[in-house]
Amino acid sequence: MSRDRNISNKTGTGYQQEKSGLLKTPLAMLNDPEGEHVPEFLPSVVDAHVHLFPDHLFASIWQWFDHFGWPIRYKITSQAAINFLLSRGIDHIVALHYAHKPGIARELNAYMADLCRSNSRITGLATVLPGEENAADILKEAFQLGLAGVKLHSHVQCVDLGSEAMHQIYKACTKYNKPLIIHAGREPKSPGYNCDPHVLCSAEKFEQVIRSYPHLRICVPHMGIDEFEAYERMLEHYDNLWLDTTMTLAEYLPTDYFPDLSQMRADRIIFGTDFPNIPYAWDRELKRLCQLNLPEDTLALILGENAKHLFSINIGDDYEKAYG
Ligand SMILES: [Zn+2]
Repeated sequence: MSRDRNISNKTGTGYQQEKSGLLKTPLAMLNDPEGEHVPEFLPSVVDAHVHLFPDHLFASIWQWFDHFGWPIRYKITSQAAINFLLSRGIDHIVALHYAHKPGIARELNAYMADLCRSNSRITGLATVLPGEENAADILKEAFQLGLAGVKLHSHVQCVDLGSEAMHQIYKACTKYNKPLIIHAGREPKSPGYNCDPHVLCSAEKFEQVIRSYPHLRICVPHMGIDEFEAYERMLEHYDNLWLDTTMTLAEYLPTDYFPDLSQMRADRIIFGTDFPNIPYAWDRELKRLCQLNLPEDTLALILGENAKHLFSINIGDDYEKAYG
């Protein structure tokens, strides 16, 4: 999950949320123990849901989480987050960010592109605020910088999945053949957002999008929280849909859902963590995944191969560069 909007601007759109949703009150820190390293027996692990932001935006995001989300266990800079994961055995990072207001996406995308240039084990995605001036050009420039797709967040960006602003994004991603990761699930709703995610998002609205853009590859984080059944059903029907497991394996959020990964399309599920913006140990979900006794080939797909395929990551090249 994630967000960033200045708390002082909380009522900026005049919207007042009633206290409902999974984040109606902030959640607690877990002091679960950390592992030192990715378990040796695991196949190559890509963390396909890592947030990297410039320091000042991370500070603002942490402030928001302290008030509305959960205590963040790893309040560390982008560079420290990269070092943390890679030194513990994560092979590759898919790095995400999002623009919460117009006029900042170009700067953020340049920042992300610099991080990717500094380390071939990072694949960065672009962002843009849907509806901002020259949104399609901002994405085109970001792809020219080497960014591998687009990340959007309906709640933070207050964007309706069916809006004209979003159709511009769907068309741009289709045109340039870049995958889109969009937090399209309607939870976790928080009074800290300037809009009501239950109005902006629904599985029904999302299905219209996935059906209307059969050549657009979309990944929905958190298994589509909280309309899990609807997203699991869509996964069976649409070849252009992926779901990421981020936070759903942790048994932390107040839902009674735990994905039965053995019953889903193994080629469409992607592992991610939301690091560093998490309230529990960095490897909590990795450990849970290991306990599920999934077949080895299924585990390899979920932990890395699917993300490599979707985001065109060539880890062979990484190793060539690093050790060749
Ligand atoms: Zn996230």
